Amino acid sequence: MSETKRLYFEDAGRLEFEARITGRRTVDGRPAVILDETAFYPESGGQPWDLGTIDGIPVVKVLDEEGTIVHVLEREPGQEAGEGAEKVKGLVDGRRRFDHMRQHSGQHVLSQAFIEILNGETRSFHLGADASTLEIGIENITDETLDRVERRANAVVFEDRAVKTYFVPAGRIAEVPLRRPPKVSGLVRVVEIEGFDYSACGGTHVRRTGEIGLIKIIAAERIRGNLRFTFVCGGRALADYQVKTRVCRGLAGKFNVPDREIPAAVEKQGAELKDVKKRLKTVEQAAAGYEARELAEGASGRIVARVLAEKSPEGARALALSLVKLGPAAAVFATRSGGKARLVLARADGVAADLRPLAGVLAPLFNGKGGGGPSLIEIAGDQEADLDALVARASSAVAEEIGRHNPN
Ligand SMILES: [Zn+2]
Repeated sequence: MSETKRLYFEDAGRLEFEARITGRRTVDGRPAVILDETAFYPESGGQPWDLGTIDGIPVVKVLDEEGTIVHVLEREPGQEAGEGAEKVKGLVDGRRRFDHMRQHSGQHVLSQAFIEILNGETRSFHLGADASTLEIGIENITDETLDRVERRANAVVFEDRAVKTYFVPAGRIAEVPLRRPPKVSGLVRVVEIEGFDYSACGGTHVRRTGEIGLIKIIAAERIRGNLRFTFVCGGRALADYQVKTRVCRGLAGKFNVPDREIPAAVEKQGAELKDVKKRLKTVEQAAAGYEARELAEGASGRIVARVLAEKSPEGARALALSLVKLGPAAAVFATRSGGKARLVLARADGVAADLRPLAGVLAPLFNGKGGGGPSLIEIAGDQEADLDALVARASSAVAEEIGRHNPN
C-alpha cells in the first residue's frame, strides 16, 4: 500500500484540504477511507488522533498503518465518482488540533528543561484528554528543583522562540544535536526549538513557543523506578488555575486565613478534631456507665429488656455489656439505626446459658441476619419491624434458655 502524503508535516496550521480516495475498508465494523494526502494526524508518538469531517461525515479515529493513514468514519461516504477518482473535502477540528500542538510542543520544552537541570531523560510521553504525562528517568526531585524546571520551561515560552520542522537524511542525522536518538530510519523529521531543543518527532507543533502558553506540572508519582509528571499547557493550564483559585478562595474563606496559611489551618483543625473525639469517647463511656446503673436499679426482674430506638449499634452493645456486670442476668435491647432494626442480647458471665441458638429463632421474625458468642448476640433486620414485639419475644426466649440451664 502506498504512503499517504501528510500535509501537517509542512503546515500544522492547515485544517482544510481536498484529496482523492485511494482505498476503502472496514475497521471495527465502521467504514474507513484512505486518501492520497491528508491533514488528519493519526494516533502515534503519544499524541492522539485528530477529529473532524470528510465530506461532512464525522471522522471517529485516524490510524497509521505503516505509513498509510486510515480515516475511520461514522458512516459510509457517497460514491458519485468512479473508483479511485473520488474527490473529498477534509476539515480538521481546529480546537482539538491546536490544543494538541500546545501540549506536544510543551512536552518538548519540558523534556529539554529536565535534561538541562537534572540530566533527566524522557522515557515516555502520553497526551491525555485532560492532562498529559511525562516519565523522566530520575528517582527523586525536590520542590525547589521542580520549581526551577518549570521556570526554565516557561522562560523558553516567554522568549517566544521559533519552532522549526524539517527532514534530515539518516546519513546526516549525526550532525543534529538530537535529545534522543531517532527511532526511524531513512528521512528523519526534526522538530527544532531554536537554540534549545532538537527532537526526532512526527507530531504537530506550534510555530513559536509563545503559542504554548503557561506550562505547569500538577502532579508527580513514582513509576518503574522513574518519576511520572502530569502537566498541562495553555488553555488547560488556565482552566486548572481557575479551579485551584476557586478551591483556595473557598477554603481561605472558611478558615478565615490567607491562601498560604490553609495547610496550617487544616492541620490545626485536624488536631482539634482528634482531641475532641478522644474526649467524646471518655464522656460516652462514662454516660454508658450511668445509664447502665440507672437501668439496673430500676429493673424488676433478672432480665432487663428495653426499646432504645435512637441508640447506635455500638452504644446498645456497650450498654448491654455494662448492664450485665451490675447484677441483671441478661439484657435485651432493640434499636433502629443505619436503616435496620436491631436486637442485642447479652448475659452475665456467671449465668449458664448459650445465646447462640437464639439467633436462629429470632432472626426469621424480622428477616434478620446475625450471630455472636455464647454471651452476646446481635441481629439486624427489616427497619419497619415492631421493636416492642421483638423485645418481648427475645426476652421470653432468653428466660427459657436460662431456665433450661438452671433448673430450680
Ligand atoms: Zn514529539
